Amino acid sequence: MITINASIITIGDELLIGQTIDTNSAFIAQQLNKIGIWVKRRIAVGDVYEDIWQALDEESKLADIIIITGGLGPTADDITKPLLSNYFGGKLVVNENVLNHVKYLFEKVYHRVGGALLERNLKQAEVPDVCTVLHNARGTAPGMWFEKDNKVFISLPGVPHEMKGLMLDEVIPRLQQKFSLPAIIHKTAFTFGMGESMIAEKIKDFESSLPSYIKLAYLPGYGLVKLRLTMISDDKQKAEQEIMPLFNQLQELVKDVLVAAEDEGLETTIGKILLAKGKTVSTAESCTGGYIAHLITTIPGSSAYFKGSVVSYANEVKENVLGVNHETLTGSGAVSKETVKEMLKGVLKKMNTDYALATSGIMGPDGGSEEKPVGTVWIAAGNNQKIEFLKLNLRFDRKRNIEQTALSALNFLRKFMLAND
Ligand code: AMP
Ligand code: MG
Repeated sequence: MITINASIITIGDELLIGQTIDTNSAFIAQQLNKIGIWVKRRIAVGDVYEDIWQALDEESKLADIIIITGGLGPTADDITKPLLSNYFGGKLVVNENVLNHVKYLFEKVYHRVGGALLERNLKQAEVPDVCTVLHNARGTAPGMWFEKDNKVFISLPGVPHEMKGLMLDEVIPRLQQKFSLPAIIHKTAFTFGMGESMIAEKIKDFESSLPSYIKLAYLPGYGLVKLRLTMISDDKQKAEQEIMPLFNQLQELVKDVLVAAEDEGLETTIGKILLAKGKTVSTAESCTGGYIAHLITTIPGSSAYFKGSVVSYANEVKENVLGVNHETLTGSGAVSKETVKEMLKGVLKKMNTDYALATSGIMGPDGGSEEKPVGTVWIAAGNNQKIEFLKLNLRFDRKRNIEQTALSALNFLRKFMLAND
């Protein structure tokens, strides 16, 4: 089996200094991976002529496909186009199709009526005469496809949504046509609540029994670990048949902490459970400030099962909106089992849902006491018949404490829903 390798070069000083996070590489890598192209390396270089030139030389030594993003704008710091023209021994010429598209965008889309096009915008219609132009429906800078010594070089704009459109509409179909590509099969088991090393211990015999061409990867996140089996093969069906029994075995080994046999988030998993049950949920959030509701509503179609949230940050709101007793707040305190219990009952009633989730905790850096240190969190999940509680003692910074609380709460709700109708 021949592996087709790719390398991704992102260009821009802003990437090197961390002002812009390089999201382009991740997207490109995902898309290439889906069609069976192996990403061998990803690098970032500044807006420096020699550095870009050197990167092209080096990456083309190890990859069959080199994808470049950035540096195609109309400003002086954008030097990719003349550089590519020199690199491939061409010269810049106006491309009529691109010119018409640039004019169309300025007149009909950007509504720059009356004003003549700026010289620098017209420059965007210039392309090296040695490339195939890739139409950029979303912007003025076209994509460019070069071939040299059996290698393919693709230059895309840095603006993420333009780059994505070009990848999906122009680049991927062309690559599939040009190369005969193997299938890359991934199977992911999503676990929550057990550390990476514990899981490694549990599955060590399984791991060492895997054939060398099936790779196991551990992908840890906040409170979760994803276990991914990967196989590359020319015969997709045969590979699926080979990998499935192993994947089932893996799921069985981690069944106590298994959330899903998919690479998904907990918000997706709980959405699926609620849809399957035809039930609804609401949240009463103090320390998570609506973050759980936000996660749930990132899923399209969540309106079918999510009714709403009360962000009851102040005690006043816990009392007046959710009906938490004043004595509970003064006696047990806002961060207590009793308070989340009453918050949950209140939101269940107010929102009239089948299930509810409530959170209250001290996220830090201040606000802790000896009895309730920073990181103390109470979570309640329940329905009209039953309420269950979970206490966390987190030790992270504020942001991570919030994220960890939200995920733990969603996982707690998931377990509750699976056990209680
Ligand atoms: P450029 O094509 O270099 O003019 O970049 C246009 C815009 O896209 C700038 O705002 C960049 O910060 C952004 N951008 C460039 N490269 C990337 C990248 N690798 N990931 C995310 N955004 C990027
Ligand atoms: Mg740039």
